[in-house]
Amino acid sequence: MANDNNRFQAIIAHCKEYGFIFPSSEIYDGLSAVYDYGQNGSELKKNIRDYWWKSMTQLHDNIVGIDAAIFMHPTTWKASGHVDNFSDPMIDNKDSKKRYRVDHLIEAHADLLKEKGEAGAKEAEQLLAEMDALLAKEDYAGLKQLIDDNKIKCSVSGTVNWTDIRQFNLMFSTEFGATASSEDADSKVYLRPETAQGIFVNFLNVQKTGRMKIPFGIAQIGKAFRNEIVARQFIFRMREFEQMEMQFFVRPGTEGEWYKFWKEERLKWHLSLGIDPSKYRYHDHIKLAHYAKEACDIEFEFPMGFREVEGIHSRSDFDLSQHQQYSKKKMQYFDNDLDANGKPFGNYIPYVIETSIGLDRMFLLIMSNAYTEEDLSTPEKADSRVVLKFPAKLAPIKLAVLPLLKKDGLPEIAREIMNSCKGSFRCFYEEKDAIGKRYRRMDALGTPFCVTVDHQTKEDNTVTVRHRDSMQQERIPISAIKAMVEAQL
Ligand code: ATP
Repeated sequence: MANDNNRFQAIIAHCKEYGFIFPSSEIYDGLSAVYDYGQNGSELKKNIRDYWWKSMTQLHDNIVGIDAAIFMHPTTWKASGHVDNFSDPMIDNKDSKKRYRVDHLIEAHADLLKEKGEAGAKEAEQLLAEMDALLAKEDYAGLKQLIDDNKIKCSVSGTVNWTDIRQFNLMFSTEFGATASSEDADSKVYLRPETAQGIFVNFLNVQKTGRMKIPFGIAQIGKAFRNEIVARQFIFRMREFEQMEMQFFVRPGTEGEWYKFWKEERLKWHLSLGIDPSKYRYHDHIKLAHYAKEACDIEFEFPMGFREVEGIHSRSDFDLSQHQQYSKKKMQYFDNDLDANGKPFGNYIPYVIETSIGLDRMFLLIMSNAYTEEDLSTPEKADSRVVLKFPAKLAPIKLAVLPLLKKDGLPEIAREIMNSCKGSFRCFYEEKDAIGKRYRRMDALGTPFCVTVDHQTKEDNTVTVRHRDSMQQERIPISAIKAMVEAQL
């Protein structure tokens, strides 16, 4: 697939220039893999978040939402397996001191081989197959040998002077409370690396207080933190990011059909945004976590190729059983529905289907899908524009109101239009610069509608509407503006 680095760089630059995303604490040269959302980015992000939240909690009457704390009791992460297992194999170059994730180092070498034509591509394929086999066996000595045998170099020092491979835990930890000391093991807390555990530990609270009946789901949106070793690719892989997760609790034995349901349902959600289906594909996991029954990723064709945007996992009763064991609190549900023999199903620990999507990654998806460079040249004049073709419901600004001139009462009429619409959706007022320039600026922000107030407006109460994607213009009454925009939301 097209690995379009120029396009990716253009998107990153556009995000900064138009107030979508800035490097974190940029005046101090930024912080690696941490980003801030600007005035337009935070609106777009909020709209994606709301769209997910509404589709989960409002459109499914058996799913409720919670908002758990980022800090959790440290035993949570023992029980979940994150303290012992949430790690990536990594290797350091002794000369440059640069640290690499082993699979990323080998993959980068394979990419270089592929550039060498057919023979190189074959070699790359074999290298990746060997890597997969060794990773599956967690054979780190074998992986080190593979790096040595292929003379894989560090991109900074250019040498092959490597340390042994070690596991590196991805969780951030910090001290808790004023009296915390390093001897006090209880004072160590983690920044959650996923939001899911906040749902599992609240399973009974929600089930009981909400009188939820299986099957039901609990959704949550919130920050997660991972000390990613190789944190590049803009907001694709961040150290602080946001997840939108839903755990769906089902009766054991029904997990297969619910997994299939959520796998299809989640892809439908993506397609409901009007995105070309050929840009999506499923990637079924072959290597499963020991507790997992089935798992797949929904992949999207980002500028750097097909990559995971969302995971759907059939997790058995692993998490709730672990929390039951570590907390010594029963995590059971009493099911009084009747089985085939007319007996209640009784007590059991529910099975779980998880859907987990990164909000920032979804933002990148929407941005890269929307970003369009158009050549508008005519024989007379060279011209082009950059337009963000966001679905109207996600666009940060829905309507721009533009008086043609800064006089003759036109700004006053434009302000009135603003006032009548801004309670319903986000509007933007602009009177500076020529109208063509203002349209282009709105294109670059992805605003689906611009209305221009001109002298004719004073005579017949109509305005010119200019549509972002087609650039078509039409005349409509002021009284029809609001309904026109709302019809697209
Ligand atoms: P990857 O293989 O890309 O590291 P993962 O399989 O570890 O991802 P999960 O733990 O399943 O990811 O997390 C669910 C979702 O959270 C991912 O599909 C992705 O959208 C998002 N996500 C995970 N890690 C990051 C990150 N470092 N930055 C941004 N989003 C992330």
